[in-house]
Amino acid sequence: MSSKFATVSLQCPWCLEAVEIFIDADAEAGQWMEDCPVCCHPMNLEAQPDGSGGWQVTAERAH
Ligand SMILES: [Zn+2]
Repeated sequence: MSSKFATVSLQCPWCLEAVEIFIDADAEAGQWMEDCPVCCHPMNLEAQPDGSGGWQVTAERAH
């Protein structure tokens, strides 16, 4: 893990736009909620280390 923050690109599960999300690289893998910057719908995000210093983030629709 190098820098403090990482940017990950993912696809919004609501509007299907490609969005960029900042995550704290020092944080443990986990889940959190964030509004899509495009359509403002809530997304449940889950981050897991990808084994090479980056993050694998999946997004699901939050209710
Ligand atoms: Zn969206």
